[in-house]
Amino acid sequence: MTAAAAIACRDAAPLAILRERGQREVFCGLTGIVWLHRRIQDAFFLVVGSRTCAHLLQSAAGVMIFAEPRFATAVMEQRDLAGLADTHDELERIVARLIERRPDIRLLFLVGSCPSEVIKLDLASAAARLSVRYAPQVRILAYSGSGIETTFTEGEDACLAALAAELPASEGASTRSLMVVGALADVVEDQLRRIFAELGIGPVHFLPPRRCADLPPVGSGTRLLLAQPFLNETTRVLEGRGARRLSAPYPLGADGTAAWLAAAARDFAVPAARFEAVIRPARERARRALLPHRDRLQGRRVFLFPDSQLEPPLARFLAGELGMRIVEIGTPYLNTRLLDAELPLLPAETLVSEGQDVDRQLDRCRAAAPDLVVCGLGLANPLEAEGFTTKWSIELVFTPIQGFEQAGDLAELFSRPLLRRARLEV
Ligand code: SF4
Repeated sequence: MTAAAAIACRDAAPLAILRERGQREVFCGLTGIVWLHRRIQDAFFLVVGSRTCAHLLQSAAGVMIFAEPRFATAVMEQRDLAGLADTHDELERIVARLIERRPDIRLLFLVGSCPSEVIKLDLASAAARLSVRYAPQVRILAYSGSGIETTFTEGEDACLAALAAELPASEGASTRSLMVVGALADVVEDQLRRIFAELGIGPVHFLPPRRCADLPPVGSGTRLLLAQPFLNETTRVLEGRGARRLSAPYPLGADGTAAWLAAAARDFAVPAARFEAVIRPARERARRALLPHRDRLQGRRVFLFPDSQLEPPLARFLAGELGMRIVEIGTPYLNTRLLDAELPLLPAETLVSEGQDVDRQLDRCRAAAPDLVVCGLGLANPLEAEGFTTKWSIELVFTPIQGFEQAGDLAELFSRPLLRRARLEV
């Protein structure tokens, strides 16, 4: 007997899916640099963009001007096509200066953006040319964080897809390994490594790794366990290299984390008794940590605006483990394949909206008058001014929320705004 899933499915009643295309209020994919540069500690992200891109990064990352951050913006001024050769030369000069000044850089990402003068540049070819010049000291890759092509978390997907194409091939088709895919905080990775070791699952690799020398091998023996639901392109590249994805809910909450681990345990034939013995203490701790928040959140109605693609797993956690009632789950893109184990866990007939027409969605939100609105920074202040209680969705991406030990912190992110509102009303 092997490990069983620890989470119950709803009945087969369909979800109500609304597809909208209109004005949207989401960050572009450059934002991913804020958490990716912390995660890959010998990487540097050079945004090839405009002053707007530089301002976005500086304000999103709250950079101290005297710090030596591991990202920067090469500002490309408007040029006509005849000036394109100069622009390539200029980019090469900037890269040369950067590598000379920062010998600690092992991996350099050229990150494309959406100004027209940048779109004209072929960054992939520039990265390939520069990689040859600086090998083996520095590996240079390119991806796009442009707001035309990517939303908020899709920048991470584009970055990891570029990295996935560079992974070494594993030795021998039968070399069995587990790859956890998606940026996680170091503390979460350490906790998960301990659990996998106790379960006897290994070798276990994480993509992205903390250092680029530790790029994990990939091949037909590789099993992928996604830690984030927005990694469509990365998964496609890894599957193209022979890896197989394990279908699982995402590791949010006590039951969500247990079900995520169970997917790996099943594939690695961990006996059910061993699985239960290993995860029980942490799962019980997580359930106890949720209790005070459940008291505050149970029965309260929540409306999630689209932001990070984390919304469906978050809604599953809020409904299933905290007893909240879901009014609407907005998501920039509904990837039914990567959510195959999540969607059946949502309450029946939940409204899931894909894409956005922000005015219409605001109208639906106002009409529903939810107790809590989860939304981006741009919508939060106006909604607070109208009397709604809001939670900034960006915090859900910047805060470690995955795994058993973070379940209570995740719940608190939703209960705190309601507590704050209650205090203000008193
Ligand atoms: Fe704005 Fe585009 Fe730069 Fe993002 S990439 S900051 S959307 S100009």
